[in-house]
Amino acid sequence: MIDNETRHKCGVFGIWGSPEAAHQAYTALYAQQHRGQESAGIAVSDGRRLDAHVGMGLVAEVFSPKVLAQLRGRAAIGHNRYSTTGSNRACNAQPLLRDYIGGQVALGHNGNLINADLLRYQYEQRGHIFHTTTDTEVIIHLLAAHQTSKADPLVEALQHLQGAYCLVFLFADRIEAARDPWGWRPLVLGQTAEGHWCVASETVALDALGARFEREVERGEIVTLSDAGVRSRRFAEAQGPALCIFEHVYFANPSTHLFGDTVQIVRERLGHALAAEAPVEADFVVPMPDSGRSAAWGYAMGSGIPYREGIVPNRYVGRTFIRPEQDERDAAVQLKLNVISDIVKGKRLIVVDDSIVRGTTTRGKMEQLRRAGASEIHLRISCPPIRDACYFGIDFPDPATLVARDRTIEQVREYLGVDSLHYLSLEGMLSCVSHPAGHYCTACFSGCYPINVTHPVSKLSLEPQQLRMFS
Ligand code: SF4
Repeated sequence: MIDNETRHKCGVFGIWGSPEAAHQAYTALYAQQHRGQESAGIAVSDGRRLDAHVGMGLVAEVFSPKVLAQLRGRAAIGHNRYSTTGSNRACNAQPLLRDYIGGQVALGHNGNLINADLLRYQYEQRGHIFHTTTDTEVIIHLLAAHQTSKADPLVEALQHLQGAYCLVFLFADRIEAARDPWGWRPLVLGQTAEGHWCVASETVALDALGARFEREVERGEIVTLSDAGVRSRRFAEAQGPALCIFEHVYFANPSTHLFGDTVQIVRERLGHALAAEAPVEADFVVPMPDSGRSAAWGYAMGSGIPYREGIVPNRYVGRTFIRPEQDERDAAVQLKLNVISDIVKGKRLIVVDDSIVRGTTTRGKMEQLRRAGASEIHLRISCPPIRDACYFGIDFPDPATLVARDRTIEQVREYLGVDSLHYLSLEGMLSCVSHPAGHYCTACFSGCYPINVTHPVSKLSLEPQQLRMFS
């Protein structure tokens, strides 16, 4: 995916008991920067009070040494955000820190709730006031609403949620981390060399801290980190699972150990499978940087055709240039990727990328390859065509704008202006991961949704101008 058309929905982190908690959260957020670049935040607890700093931009832009030094405490949670529900505004940056009937709580969320607007509507009808347009805020209202219950307030609150969520709550005396019963998004438990327990979206964050991976947080589980160590309880029976296969294809860091597999190795297998499904004679296998590299390497290994970098990224165009507006995205792609004409001129190329969403910038890049003199372009994509929406934490554009939505593969090929086009089959993709095929969510490829989505929440569903009607 060369055009940044699809966005991640956030990374979360939490660590308990460490005198360096805020700095460790900063390091973990840095390692998970790929999961969200719109805003970042850290909340800390000194055992009595919570404090937080959140801001718009990359982790390095939000936190200065001075700001980090002011975040004192032995516990911290952190969040990287890209908006899939709620616009890109400062009020939506997380962790959300609130005073409520139970004291103080800070919350970071990775995922998408499919019943957030209904829940919010019900609360607003009772006079509740919301300060953000994210789906996350409703969780704090649920927690407050159940605080006087004799049962477990968090368990009761979570039982009202539908959809995808990995949540990290910070209270004055503990961290509570919860994963939804279907497990769309990853959440792992680790321990630092000093014995401090932590949770993170990806193992790459644990690696950055020199922490040991202990296990995944289970579906329907709450893990509590406190001075008493680690405690586990369930709030729901595990369902599915519905592990997001697209985390492997595109989202997660290549070094992350995800759902039982290492992402880089899965991506190489995807390329290998692609070579077996769609062989073609060519001079080079050319990756679309950076996302297509691993699969291109796998294709080259599988086909025996040399791997060559014919398109190179401009490392000095930072991610800060990228904004969700399409014009700016297109300009950014032109700046970020340069074709090396001395490599591609007169050559038959197999160009490998991980996925195509809208296809507009892929087409532009294919045109650039032609202008640089490529004699043949055979485009190979290491996942099936994306034809349907994701309601579980990935911000695909409106399905009507997906290039493969209403086109045959031949029509997509014509649109992109390439000599041949092959998408890896669903079976081929699923053959590259360790769990049985039924354990993964493939809805955006197959149209088969693990749960019934009767009232999908869109990115802007909770914006004030959106009319929400429930009977
Ligand atoms: S619909 Fe696609 S992107 Fe969304 S959770 Fe399922 S596999 Fe992942």
